[in-house]
Amino acid sequence: SNMKLESLSGCMIRVYSLCESEAASYGHTFSLDLPDQEIKANMDRDKIIQLLINLIRNAFQAMEKTGHVSFSLTEESRVAVIQVTDTGKGIPPSDLPQIFEPFYTTKEEGTGLGLSVCQKIVEDHGGRIMVDSEVGTGTTFTVRIPIVTEVD
Ligand code: ADP
Ligand code: MG
Repeated sequence: SNMKLESLSGCMIRVYSLCESEAASYGHTFSLDLPDQEIKANMDRDKIIQLLINLIRNAFQAMEKTGHVSFSLTEESRVAVIQVTDTGKGIPPSDLPQIFEPFYTTKEEGTGLGLSVCQKIVEDHGGRIMVDSEVGTGTTFTVRIPIVTEVD
């Protein structure tokens, strides 16, 4: 595997810069919030980038007009907590159980593969992915991944 101790903070800065121009092309605002202290995790960096880009692109696509996407990292007792929050249309409660199923899509040109791949990547990192959504208000995806704490 390609698991290595890497900077999750650095990885998120990379993802943010990769997605900034797409946010601008929609007219969405897009913010990044990182903790002061760098967070490292044992991870496959390319997979984590793929996971985060999937969540952010879904967020951009969920907003019918323009909106805001916030992308943040916090630490809670040796777990990195990454959140992608949008001010989009939200997901009806009846659809929530299906969104991680392969090929489930509500988009005309969707593949429905994004979230199933995201879930696999998170699980391969010993983590969990969760969704909170309110129709008409927006959606938050939360990814929790165990992190490495410095030994001193
Ligand atoms: P795709 O993007 O190809 O449709 P995904 O697996 O990424 O496939 O997402 C599956 C479905 O989950 C989407 O079609 C959409 O209905 C819903 N979804 C995912 N992310 C969001 C979001 N941020 N806001 C609203 N709905 C979402
Ligand atoms: Mg998608």
